[in-house]
Amino acid sequence: MLTEYDVVILGSGMGGSTFAHALKDSGLKILVVDRGSHLPREQANWDTNAVFAAQRYHNAESWYDGRTGKTFKPGVFYYVGGNTKFYGAMLPRFREADFGAIRHAEGVSPAWPLSYADFEPWYARAEQLYRVHGTTGTDPSDPWRSSPYPYPAIAHDPALFRLEASLRRDGLKPFSMPASVDYGLGRPCILCSTCDGYPCRIDAKCDAEVSALRPALASAAVELLTDTKIDWLETSADGTRIVAAVGSRHGAPVRIAAKKFVLACGAVNSTALLLRSASPRHPRGLANSSDRLGRNYMVHNSTFMLAVDPRRVNTVSFQKTLALNDWYLGADDGHPLGNVQMLGKIREPMVTGMRPWLPKAISRFITDHSVDLYLTSEDLPVDDNRVTWDADRQAITVRWTPNNLRAHKALVQRTSRALRRAGYPIILADRMGIGTNSHQCGTAAMGRDAATSVVDPDCRAHDIDNLWLVDSSVFVSSAAVNPALTIAANALRVASTFAAV
Ligand SMILES: Cc1cc2nc3c(=O)[nH]c(=O)nc-3n(C[C@H](O)[C@H](O)[C@H](O)COP(=O)(O)OP(=O)(O)OC[C@H]3O[C@@H](n4cnc5c(N)ncnc54)[C@H](O)[C@@H]3O)c2cc1C
Repeated sequence: MLTEYDVVILGSGMGGSTFAHALKDSGLKILVVDRGSHLPREQANWDTNAVFAAQRYHNAESWYDGRTGKTFKPGVFYYVGGNTKFYGAMLPRFREADFGAIRHAEGVSPAWPLSYADFEPWYARAEQLYRVHGTTGTDPSDPWRSSPYPYPAIAHDPALFRLEASLRRDGLKPFSMPASVDYGLGRPCILCSTCDGYPCRIDAKCDAEVSALRPALASAAVELLTDTKIDWLETSADGTRIVAAVGSRHGAPVRIAAKKFVLACGAVNSTALLLRSASPRHPRGLANSSDRLGRNYMVHNSTFMLAVDPRRVNTVSFQKTLALNDWYLGADDGHPLGNVQMLGKIREPMVTGMRPWLPKAISRFITDHSVDLYLTSEDLPVDDNRVTWDADRQAITVRWTPNNLRAHKALVQRTSRALRRAGYPIILADRMGIGTNSHQCGTAAMGRDAATSVVDPDCRAHDIDNLWLVDSSVFVSSAAVNPALTIAANALRVASTFAAV
């Protein structure tokens, strides 16, 4: 048994590391626990074949698809820093409207128990912590802000000028996506093409380990335990408190006692851990008297789009700046469609990884001549999109039927048309399936009513006195922009009242 801590944070990704950073000077004795190791800094970090074709860093176990009964490889990574080691570092805020109820083509996205105004100061702090680069006044859907972006927007690579000009001619308003890279005079980022989906070999991507956990560990109050998978949470005899996190490290049992527990294993893994911790006092799993835990799994409807101009090689390096939110809040029929942003440059081994039957020469020609985009639309929380723990197989099951696809199809159509007008005659679009779940959220949603939510607006479990959740599981809706800044802002917000409880 390890020393007793004031706080144990399970998971060192966006939520967990940001939370640890916020508490580093609180006087509390804190342990951050992660099942993953430190990701090695090595040549292979930027080797497209190693990262995508050989999947060198994929270390997650298979999960079950609840609809087909087959297994799939989830797009999650278990390392110190969590999924942010691989993220594309685009850190937009949710739009102001995203916190209210929004009518979509196929249903209603519910309101959060908090407003954008409640989040705004924490967004500003999170942007400072993650060194976000952006410009105000260029994105038509931008929410109000109390302070400017901490760093100026990253300018578009010249290879994107033609596309940008054409979009403007169409009456659209392309802008530079808020980016969390350590770029600028004397700073390490070289705006390379190996950011999105790769780890950063020079630590110039502001991921959760680099920006939050390392500075937190500089404080004597914060410790890190790697390679430790927590299997279940043990409660007091009356079931009201967690007394220990129990798991294993290199095959040896581990039991970690603490006064407070903060769960940040990612939406699916946090849920699975709580479900695995079922006991006679909590037969449906911990924090699940409402039977809401695991439901409302959301992950975005997303499409990878390659727009090909066979006459022109795309020489872009850092492709991930340009974005469109013109249809985010509503298109002609009034329904929101979503966000369009660039992907990191797609290369042949990535296509070969997804389409092994396609001759490499064709994949290489396509990717040499393509601009690559990522289209995201909001999906809606429904009961049956659900994470469960299969005790017999000792495995996670995700049941997911995509919804609100009409909006997503409209987004794909509009973007395709704009790209054709921009001189890209060939458009290849591929909607992502159950394995592309990097934007997973919503399985332990916050709410004021303990009968219909898992945690309260301070992200404290309704059922368990000393349990908080600070990853994307607490999201009420998925919005249609990247989730990580909202996870970070929420973790900072929750930490601000946590020490006093
Ligand atoms: C390729 C890729 C690109 C992305 N691009 C972007 C982007 O540009 N912008 C954006 O906003 N988001 C992006 N994301 C998503 C973003 O990374 C996630 O939303 C974010 O990291 C989620 O934070 P989290 O704290 O919920 O969980 P995670 O960051 O996933 O962290 C969970 C941590 O918990 C650990 N863990 C899990 N189970 C256990 C257990 N049982 N015991 C102990 N530890 C455990 C894991 O090892 C992990 O370190 C991307 C993700 C990927 C994979």
